[in-house]
Amino acid sequence: MKYRHVTLRNLFLRTTLVVLAAFLFTLAPANSRLAFAQDDSPWKGGEPPPAQPRETPLPEEQNIVERAMTAVCSERARDPLGSIPIDVMQARPSMPLSHPDAVAGLKRAERLLPAAKELVIASLRDLSNEYNIEDMRVRAAAARVLAVDKIEPDVELRDNASVMLSTPRTVYFGTIFLAGLQSDEGMISVLAHELTHIADGKEDSLHPLFRLVGRRASTLTGMHIAGRRPEELTCDLVGAMVSRAYITRTPGKETLARRLSRAIEHNCVEEDGTDEAHLSPRNTMRALLSLDPTLGSEIMEDPLITFKLVEPSNAPAKSTQTPTRRPRRVMPRTRTRT
Ligand SMILES: [Zn+2]
Repeated sequence: MKYRHVTLRNLFLRTTLVVLAAFLFTLAPANSRLAFAQDDSPWKGGEPPPAQPRETPLPEEQNIVERAMTAVCSERARDPLGSIPIDVMQARPSMPLSHPDAVAGLKRAERLLPAAKELVIASLRDLSNEYNIEDMRVRAAAARVLAVDKIEPDVELRDNASVMLSTPRTVYFGTIFLAGLQSDEGMISVLAHELTHIADGKEDSLHPLFRLVGRRASTLTGMHIAGRRPEELTCDLVGAMVSRAYITRTPGKETLARRLSRAIEHNCVEEDGTDEAHLSPRNTMRALLSLDPTLGSEIMEDPLITFKLVEPSNAPAKSTQTPTRRPRRVMPRTRTRT
C-alpha cells in the first residue's frame, strides 16, 4: 500500500469541492423542468451532446406518454373501424384498384379532401402563431393546399401515400393504405399529413416551423430528430390536429377516446422499424403525445392529467434571420410514408 501525504490545505480544497458537487447535484432535479422549457440549445446538428439534462424527460411524463400509447393501441384493437398498423399493411399482398376496400377508401379520401384542406390551413395558422412563423410563409403554404384537387390511387405505392413536387395538386395513395384507414378520423389525419408536405412546396416555406417542432420534440422526448424527420413529424402533428378539429365539427355517438385514437393508431406496430426520413412508428406516437399532452389525456379519458410539458410563454423564439437556402431537392418527394 502506498502512503499518500495529504496536507491540510489539500484536505480543505477536497472537502470544499465535495460539498460544492453535492450542492449542485441537489439543485439539478429542480432545474431540469426549467431547462426543458428553455430550449435554446446552440446545438445545430450532428450527434447530440451527451448527458444534457434538458434532453432527459422526467420519468413521470415519460410514464404518462407510455400509458397513452397503450390506451391508443388498446382502443384500436377494440375498434371495428380501427386503422391497420403500418407493419401489418406492409406484409399484405398488393391490392388492385378495383378492390372494394380500396374503392371505399378512395371515396372516403375524396369526400374528406375539402375539409382536410380547410383544417390543415387552420392548423398551420395555429402552429405558426405558436412558433412565431412569418405570416407570408403561411399564406404561401395555404395557397398550395387550396390548389390540391385530386386523390390518385396507386397499386405500386402499397401502404404509402406520397406527393410529388412536379404535381402539387395531387395526393397519391397506395391502395393498401386506402383500404387500411377505415375511419374518417384515420383518413383525414393521413390526408392532412400529405397536404402539409404540399404546403411546404418547392420553396420549403414551412421549414422554419419544421425545425422548431423537431427541436421541441427532441427536448421533450430526448430523441435525436434531424434530417427529414422534423418535417415528417410536423406533418403527423398537423394530421393529429386536423383529426381532432374534424371530430369537434362532426359530433357522433362514438367516444372521444376512440375517435382521437384513430388519428395516430396506424403507428401501433409490432415491428417498430424505420428509415432515415421518419421516426419509427412508435417513436412518432411518443413524440406526438409529448408535443400534444392533451391528446393523451383525452384518449385516456383522465381529466386529472393536465400536465403541460412546455408552457406557451416559453415557445421557441422567432428567428429573425432568413433561413439558409439549401440546395433544391433534385428528387421529388415520392413514397412518403405517413
Ligand atoms: Zn410524409
